[in-house]
Amino acid sequence: GVPVFLHLVFYRAAASPPSSNFLLLGPSGAGKTAFTTLLESKSSLGPKKSTSTHTSQTSTLITVTLPPTVPTASNRYRSVNDPSLKEASKNPVKYRLRDTPGHGKLRASQGIAELQAMATSTDTKTKLRGVIFMVDTAALVDEATLRDTATYLHDVLLVLQKRALGKGKSSTKRAAEIPVLVAANKQDLFTALPPGSVREKLEAEIDRIRKSKTKGLMDASMDSAELDAEDDDVLGDDDAQSVFSFTLLEQVGIKVDVTGGAVKGDQQEEFGSGVRRWEEWVGMCL
Ligand code: GDP
Repeated sequence: GVPVFLHLVFYRAAASPPSSNFLLLGPSGAGKTAFTTLLESKSSLGPKKSTSTHTSQTSTLITVTLPPTVPTASNRYRSVNDPSLKEASKNPVKYRLRDTPGHGKLRASQGIAELQAMATSTDTKTKLRGVIFMVDTAALVDEATLRDTATYLHDVLLVLQKRALGKGKSSTKRAAEIPVLVAANKQDLFTALPPGSVREKLEAEIDRIRKSKTKGLMDASMDSAELDAEDDDVLGDDDAQSVFSFTLLEQVGIKVDVTGGAVKGDQQEEFGSGVRRWEEWVGMCL
């Protein structure tokens, strides 16, 4: 008969594996809708007719493909001349992206709630592979926008930290943590901050948020003795005396990357290669 391994090969080719899930978060105006629209139009699955009605009020789920030249973690040494690339364009890697409204009022109910549900899901169909947090790098010079953006990112990271710490306590099997890509969008604009300063600004602002939160917790516990302030309510290490940086989160296994790009002018080298580097990040999660 046919050797067993061949059966396995054919089975794998025939049964399409469940697509990996990514969550797209970020304040409104960052470019999330523009990004999902671009991905759909580039996708070899083609755009869905219904998605032309993307609104910023509800969350939408799209299934798109990775360009065949973008390597995946399981296929990272593939070269451009590799004959398997031809295979890859016939059988493209699919992933799913959930876009959520970034409007202040809808954040808690939709963005954060979605993150909580997906981050704790054990079902492979809904399990979360990564979070893409999109920011408008031209808008961060505005104090209020910076504060708003950093507050949202802080809350996202806190959910992931709680998940990471909680699992360490209760379960013996430690699943892979959920990485975060801060997609520093709109690099095509004159006024855009480069990704390095976006990182610094966000870290400094999150540090401020974290310090005022710690102070709030301390004041509260002095007021009422019975209130037990939980350690894991503070992002990063417990010692909020130190300055916050994204690398602090690597202690609990959360990797944060800040990568520049532009939805407008996709594939143009001078604009951080469009969305290419974000697609490469997605590929490394697969
Ligand atoms: P959302 O609220 O996060 O979904 O943001 P949208 O996708 O609606 O984008 C907000 C505005 O930013 C729109 O006018 C987009 O055309 C614009 N935009 C999105 N990406 C870029 C970009 O890379 N460069 C520039 N210049 N504008 C962008």
